[in-house]
Formats: sequence, C-alpha cells, structure tokens
Amino acid sequence: MSHLHLDHVGDLLNAYYALAWGQLEVERPLPVYAPAALSTRLAGFFEQPDAGFVSDVLDLRPLRDGLVVELEGLELTSRAVEHGTEAYGLLARAEGRSLAYSGDCAPCTALDELAAGVDLLICEADSGEASQVHHTPEDAGALARRTGAKRLVVTHVGPSLSPSAATARAAEVFGGPVVCAEVGEVLSPW
Ligand SMILES: [Zn+2]
Repeated sequence: MSHLHLDHVGDLLNAYYALAWGQLEVERPLPVYAPAALSTRLAGFFEQPDAGFVSDVLDLRPLRDGLVVELEGLELTSRAVEHGTEAYGLLARAEGRSLAYSGDCAPCTALDELAAGVDLLICEADSGEASQVHHTPEDAGALARRTGAKRLVVTHVGPSLSPSAATARAAEVFGGPVVCAEVGEVLSPW
C-alpha cells in the first residue's frame, strides 16, 4: 500500500473481512507492506486499542525508504516520494524485467531513480495543472522520457482530465508508447 489515503487503502477493510471469514484458500496471515501508521488506522476503524487483533489475518510490515523485499522471485524496492504525506513508489524486478509504479506523488528525485530504464512505468496523472502532490500527464511523459522508460501507463487520472486527454498529453511529451490503465487490463512485458 503506497500510502494511507482512503482511495488507496479503503479496500483493505473488505479484504480483511474476506480473509477472516470468507473461507478463501489464501495463506494467512497475508503480508501487507504499508506505512507504519496503518496499524493505528485499522485499530481506530475497528475501535480496538491496537492492531494486534488483525495479526492472524494480516501481517503488517512497515515500508521505509530504500526497503528491498524478495518475494517469490520478485525483488521489490520502495522509495519515499513527495505526496504531502508518507508515501512510496515501487520498483519491481523479475527475470530481467522491471516495472516502476509512482504511487501518488509529485515529480521527485526518488521517483526518477526508481524509474531509471524500466521496461514499464506506471505513473499517476491526477492533475490537469502543475501540483505539489501529483503529476500532470506532461510530468508523467517527461519522467518516462528523462528516465528512458520503454513504455508508459498513465493511471489515477483525476476528475479534471479524461483518460484519452491524459494519454495524448503524456504521449506528446514522452514520444514513446503510452496507454491509460484500465480495470482488468493485462500488459505483458514480453
Ligand atoms: Zn493520495
């Protein structure tokens, strides 16, 4: 979980119930990497003194800048990014391929470092105009061009933009292949 804004963590409450009582065939506790304050948020939501009650279901693991996790052939690196709250971008590497995800953030050096030369860059394009906490489509395109990303997916397109406008604006700056993320879409790096 890149950060604790509700549009990024709200589903965790439903996931908790599904994992706790849904009789799913999922190994528990499920590791959840998130800002450390997630445990306090969960405790408050469930009116508990602390988040110990979730430990059979969720294994809460705090993210930090520079954390590297090996998970079943995936190498995951987190970097702190600029979003006006504790927030992280992600670099995933496997089998010689790489994917970077901005999470929510404004342009920042840590994200440039994460995105350097990746095969696939997934970057937010929330804002129609320059912002201290989000990317514009042009920012996303410029990031992809600057870092030498091979492909760009814009996501988290805000209400002042349409997916097609965000894609076109990012593509004009990037000069490489750009698509807008869609629910259920599968992109193969091969
Ligand atoms: Zn956010």
